[in-house]
Amino acid sequence: MTELRTLKVALLGCGNVGAQVARILIDDADALAARTGARLELSGIAVRNVDAPREVDLPRELFTTDAELLVKDADLVIELMGGIEPARTLILTAMRNGACVVSGNKALLAQDGPTLYEEADKAGVQLSYEAAVAGAIPILRPIRDSLSGDRITRVLGIVNGTTNFILDQMDSTGAQFADALAEAQRLGYAEADPTADIEGYDAAAKAAILASLSFHTRFALEDVSCEGITAVTAADIAAAKEAGFVIKLLAIAEKLTDAGTETEGGAGVSVRVHPTLLPREHPLAAVRGAFNAVFIEAENAGELMFYGQGAGGTPTASAVLGDLVSAARRLVLGGPGRTETTTGHVPALPIDASITSYYIGLDVADQPGVLAKIAHLFAEHGVSIEIMRQTIHRDADSNVESAELRIVTHRAREAALAATVEAVKGLDVINSVTSVLRVEGV
Ligand code: NAP
Repeated sequence: MTELRTLKVALLGCGNVGAQVARILIDDADALAARTGARLELSGIAVRNVDAPREVDLPRELFTTDAELLVKDADLVIELMGGIEPARTLILTAMRNGACVVSGNKALLAQDGPTLYEEADKAGVQLSYEAAVAGAIPILRPIRDSLSGDRITRVLGIVNGTTNFILDQMDSTGAQFADALAEAQRLGYAEADPTADIEGYDAAAKAAILASLSFHTRFALEDVSCEGITAVTAADIAAAKEAGFVIKLLAIAEKLTDAGTETEGGAGVSVRVHPTLLPREHPLAAVRGAFNAVFIEAENAGELMFYGQGAGGTPTASAVLGDLVSAARRLVLGGPGRTETTTGHVPALPIDASITSYYIGLDVADQPGVLAKIAHLFAEHGVSIEIMRQTIHRDADSNVESAELRIVTHRAREAALAATVEAVKGLDVINSVTSVLRVEGV
């Protein structure tokens, strides 16, 4: 039997994900060699503190604090340190030295992806990052490779497990946002500082990556319009539930082709993150707890859904190892493939140009002609109403009646919908606008 070639693998970071990657590289060395056609030798693990306790028992001599030295002598580099620096510089050094890089660092890729992809192309090496979006779920390679003969029209993703857990908790128990967040923190689904998750920043980074690969154009974090879930109330969830909807934080990337409408934007790609109402029968509505899923619509394939664990050391390590084997195979066969194509040249559209439906909750005066006034105002703004429901409440003490009106519109430009809501606020029969949420999947 011919001796297999050995490829040196440098691991940067040995935390939740890195420790599991190291374990699999050592425990499954023979299986990985058989699949790759080369032995993947873990040449070292760079960390901040070599003496820190680790989740996995690993040979002490593998650890170093000199990440730069490790990177310079590797065929493959796995970056699982997180953060922008020194991860960015180390990845660039690795690629300039001819190493293929695997990373799970969504924050870095969303912020500085274009520079990194360019450097990878220049150096003729592969940069892969399956773990950066939706943890264990194979989603980037299917978009980049399996769907490369098709045209993706829309991507809807539940790509942040923390917010999905919180919204699911609110939906199933009726809890307020703050209580659901506290429960998520107690169970370890949310960090002590949950800002990046609940404000939608983590999902926005993933939306930029998904949009870039889906539409063959590099979209940066600034192209993503982002709204988190902090303003979603138990009342919003209850009202949505009653109307047959569930509220999810979605990362959306969709191609809009109807140029020349009354608002700015025209043709391009709308990339956004916001709480969204979905019909309870939509496949994404069934994604419970901290799970992730990505729903893709493509011209020829139709609808596809990818579902699984979006985080966790071992599940995420699975995605990292998949990228590693793929990169190693290409090294064995000679020459890396292209990491992504950027021939799409489609502009990123502002949020005003996106096309969506609105769910609007109104507290209105209970008097004749109210419904007609509201319907007229919607029609004036070119927004048509799909569902309008009225519930009458009587205050037990004052005996005063008030009416709650819930409206779901047909799809229209965001700018027209926002202008309608502003105009509605000015009507004398409106006591207050109790909620405004976007709806997808109807
Ligand atoms: P983590 O548990 O915080 O581990 C980070 C590791 O990097 C630690 O071992 C740390 O060393 C090392 N490190 C950090 N800064 C360093 C520096 N300046 N020099 C040398 N070593 C340094 O992180 P993680 O949860 O494994 O996540 C790693 C990456 O995967 C992140 O980009 C994250 O966004 C991404 N990711 C994570 C998950 C998940 O479920 N955790 C899912 C998808 C993607 P010490 O141990 O010595 O402190």
